[in-house]
Amino acid sequence: MPGRYGGQERRHGGGRPERRGGPGGGGGRRDEPEIRGRRDDARLAEELRRMDGSSYGRYKSLTGDWSFPDFTLTVDRVQSDPFAPPSRVSVRIPADVAELPDSAWHSPVRRRATADYLVRRAYRELKGARLRIDAGGQEVLDRAACQIRDGEVLLRLGIEMPGHGRRIDGRTAERELCERLPDMVDALRWPALDAAEAAAFADTVEDTCALRDRLPDLGLVAFVADGSVLPRRSGVSDLPMQGSAVPFRSPESMRVSVSLPHAGEVSGLGIAEGITLIVGGGFHGKSTLLHALERGVYDHVPGDGRELVVSRADAVKIRAEEGRQVERTDIGAFVRNLPTGADTSDFSTENASGSTSQAANIAEALEAGSTALLIDEDTTATNLMIRDARMQRLVHGDREPLTPFVDLVRPLRRDHGVSTVLVMGGSGDYFDVADQVVMLDGYRPYDVTDRARELAAERTDADFAAPAARVIDPRSVDATARGRSRIKRRDMDVLTFGENEIDVRNLAQLVDSGQIIGVGLAMRLLAEGGLLGDDRTLAEALDALEERLEGDGVTALGRGYAGDYVLPRRYEIAAALNRLRSLRVLRSQ
Ligand code: ADP
Ligand code: MG
Repeated sequence: MPGRYGGQERRHGGGRPERRGGPGGGGGRRDEPEIRGRRDDARLAEELRRMDGSSYGRYKSLTGDWSFPDFTLTVDRVQSDPFAPPSRVSVRIPADVAELPDSAWHSPVRRRATADYLVRRAYRELKGARLRIDAGGQEVLDRAACQIRDGEVLLRLGIEMPGHGRRIDGRTAERELCERLPDMVDALRWPALDAAEAAAFADTVEDTCALRDRLPDLGLVAFVADGSVLPRRSGVSDLPMQGSAVPFRSPESMRVSVSLPHAGEVSGLGIAEGITLIVGGGFHGKSTLLHALERGVYDHVPGDGRELVVSRADAVKIRAEEGRQVERTDIGAFVRNLPTGADTSDFSTENASGSTSQAANIAEALEAGSTALLIDEDTTATNLMIRDARMQRLVHGDREPLTPFVDLVRPLRRDHGVSTVLVMGGSGDYFDVADQVVMLDGYRPYDVTDRARELAAERTDADFAAPAARVIDPRSVDATARGRSRIKRRDMDVLTFGENEIDVRNLAQLVDSGQIIGVGLAMRLLAEGGLLGDDRTLAEALDALEERLEGDGVTALGRGYAGDYVLPRRYEIAAALNRLRSLRVLRSQ
């Protein structure tokens, strides 16, 4: 059933942005002392009834632990007024209550999958409640909302504490915390779950990860299983298209078979390392295929249609992004001899053009460690991609500062091991450099490599020197505003980081609202945790960050943060950092 797990149907997340302090911000209220003595569920109910009708600020006295028969509730942070961001609570369900079998959490992959499954179950259970959990869309991600440790389940939830105006509505609060919450916990215990469904969820994710892990051995950058459903329901829905979707079917010559732990033998299109061109008429499904590959760095819920569409975990979508700023990025391979005389191996601008922004995006993706670039003609700067023969005759080489990507894509592969998958329906120039060419015709892929070779011409490659590595000034990455840490987001468009607003709209592989917060938290950790600066290049700092996250996963990011967040990739962390207007590079080497 499509959408079954996609509790929160959304293209890129949704929900409310994190805000700190509503109108009035709670200033001047004195903090209520915590309730002392016996703190169990009966006492909580009693206190909530007693608070009914008193001033909203008294809710603060609930802060701290409450022991229920089956679990511990912790009230972490209480909103100061009814209009402020929701209060935050967490729930610890001991292993002997949760009764998760070892098989549900023994490996990191199954642990993440089961936690994600529990979040989605909890979300369903809380329909219509004031308690909220961050359930995400079609991707299975490492979410702070649910973590499993040695069989113990830790959930983090938000709750809008109920009020009548600025008076406490104790009855409703009691119903939420003392009835709905225990009911939800009950529903999440393994004996109450549909064990087959839960196991299948983890099996699916495990298969996806196994498939992705196999790609390097198979010499592939991506794989699209036969039968996959790539198109989505609409431009604003990430759920699979219903009814009329043409299932994917690999051309015979490019078909690869892989054996997976649960699904067994699976066949599909193997996109080999090197340069892959996707061609075809307009509206024949080229961009849809590329979008699926972009998302293929993540695992998908069963029923999504893209469970077995995978890309290398380091694949990065590249696009032009006119107007972004660039801070000392080496775009010398693409741009030289600008009329302004600017040094393009150490290039900064407040307002990049289409071509310089795309060049910077490529250089920065390589700097962060990507070995696979995904590019769609729909969102590229044409003059960075191609320069045809007639234009070369009119504008001579020495007047043209740009080296088109078509002359760089082979050296990029040969000298740096970086593969490119490129959608290009409007120009045959890439026939000259492509290792394989896939044509989409009526959403069906065909291998047209031989035919394209016949039409190819000789081409002289340019040189591609690896972009210089940069050392970032940690003082330029400041998460604080007026002395307090400030990390929040506006929809899927903007990450507020301290005093800065970062435009993240064009980061196609930020797929979940929680990842935006995760990116902000990661940037804070890079700066405040001493990972950036001095002798570390940006790439080394990202390595150090990943090392820090190895044990505790996403929650290592969240120190003191009350809200939902999700583990992002290093490429999106780097990309946000590169779009931080205060960013300063100490040196590039
Ligand atoms: P192109 O990039 O080749 O112009 P798109 O990928 O944008 O084409 O697809 C055009 C339309 O076709 C979109 O509305 C998309 O949802 C739909 N579409 C893509 N693939 C399929 C498919 N396999 N089955 C049905 N519809 C599809
Ligand atoms: Mg297109």
